[in-house]
Amino acid sequence: MTFATLGLIEPLLRALETLGYQTPTPVQAQAIPAVLAGRDLMAAAQTGTGKTAGFAVPLLQLLTMEGPKVAANSARALILCPTRELAEQVHASVAEYAQHLPLTTYAVYGGVSINPQMMKLRKGVDILVATPGRLIDLFRQNALKLNQLQTLVLDEADRMLDLGFSEELANIYRMLPKKRQTLLFSATFSDDIRVLAGQMLNDPLSIEVSPRNVAANTVKQWVVPVDKKRKPELFVHLMRKGRWKQVLVFAKTRNGVDALVDKLQGLGINADGIHGDKPQATRQRALDRFKSSEVQILVATDVAARGLDIEDLPLVVNFDLPIVAEDYIHRIGRTGRAGNTGEAISLVCADEVNMLSAIEMLTRQTLTRKMEPDFEPEHRVPDTDASGQVVKKPKKPKKPKTSGGGGKRNLGKWVDSGEVAPAEPSIKPVRKVPVFNTGPRKKK
Ligand code: AMP
Repeated sequence: MTFATLGLIEPLLRALETLGYQTPTPVQAQAIPAVLAGRDLMAAAQTGTGKTAGFAVPLLQLLTMEGPKVAANSARALILCPTRELAEQVHASVAEYAQHLPLTTYAVYGGVSINPQMMKLRKGVDILVATPGRLIDLFRQNALKLNQLQTLVLDEADRMLDLGFSEELANIYRMLPKKRQTLLFSATFSDDIRVLAGQMLNDPLSIEVSPRNVAANTVKQWVVPVDKKRKPELFVHLMRKGRWKQVLVFAKTRNGVDALVDKLQGLGINADGIHGDKPQATRQRALDRFKSSEVQILVATDVAARGLDIEDLPLVVNFDLPIVAEDYIHRIGRTGRAGNTGEAISLVCADEVNMLSAIEMLTRQTLTRKMEPDFEPEHRVPDTDASGQVVKKPKKPKKPKTSGGGGKRNLGKWVDSGEVAPAEPSIKPVRKVPVFNTGPRKKK
């Protein structure tokens, strides 16, 4: 199959050729004809599957072929993304696909001044990429009208709900014209996503492609048990021992990111951090410098790193395990992309045993533990397995130390997650329900 056989117009084919896209990915092969036919879509596909082109390319074709010219302060298509970085990234891709088309594109998000965005919207834009909060601000300030909207895309819908945007989405829903095409992309299909889909979509076509954790077949994963207070020291030790060149590191909190970056910079290590408290321009600069290898270690929270596409990233380190187990799959999905192999190392302390267990249950694999000599924890990390059981062994009385090392070390073997069946999101029929679940906003 080629892009030409999917019925794409010449300016789009030319753009895809320039980008080196030769054959459509599975999500593109399914989504492009469906979107061109005007269908609503409910797609289980994550970052890395080519989903952006899957919705953006046919969308650009429809906007070129159909509909009136964009009016002042209007948008003809809206792509909603959970984070600023993702909005920037999606917009960059859309702009590349649209390079030979007479269409305008723009991205709006919070954390930067709203005035230039209001100015830009005066003439209207064909495709607007937005985060939910800023979109609502612009709408309320009459900088944006949505009555001309033909298509709405909800990108990473599960993440938008995880980040507590359900109320914003309900507000946006009320601002939309009834007649429109809606495309929903989500890595997982929880009950809340089905509620959202039931509200927003009209007779959607369901598409499911191999989730990212299948791509994790190419990611070697293991866990290093360690005491919490020794994590920074262990990180530096492993970094030096493994001669790590480019590492994306995940920490749980903003303070955690800052503390690790300070520690690394204090040791003369080329590190930077991104999290939600940093101004957008600073986050983007850190990311760009990491992508161009000017920065060796990028420490990030999950929110800041969501969906980032970094080519040939060899290693992801979980300095802290994620609170939400699905985030583990997103994190390790930053490496081992496009057929490359990658490694994902998690530094796990006794406090994190329940998170480890949840991850093993979700990914249906028991992660191999590799003790690092001289970093064996005083607070043992209880045994876990893919059944979700945490085995708490009774404490043994301490034996006097003998020369030659003493305790039995579990050196384990590499786990190739190809050995285990991945957890796959399954698409069940959409439930039609009248209101969103507007549970309490979770802060991350
Ligand atoms: P996405 O899942 O949309 O974030 O895309 C992941 C990566 O795959 C991006 O770097 C895209 O540029 C790239 N990509 C998307 N579609 C194709 C294709 N058909 N052929 C080659 N690369 C692609």
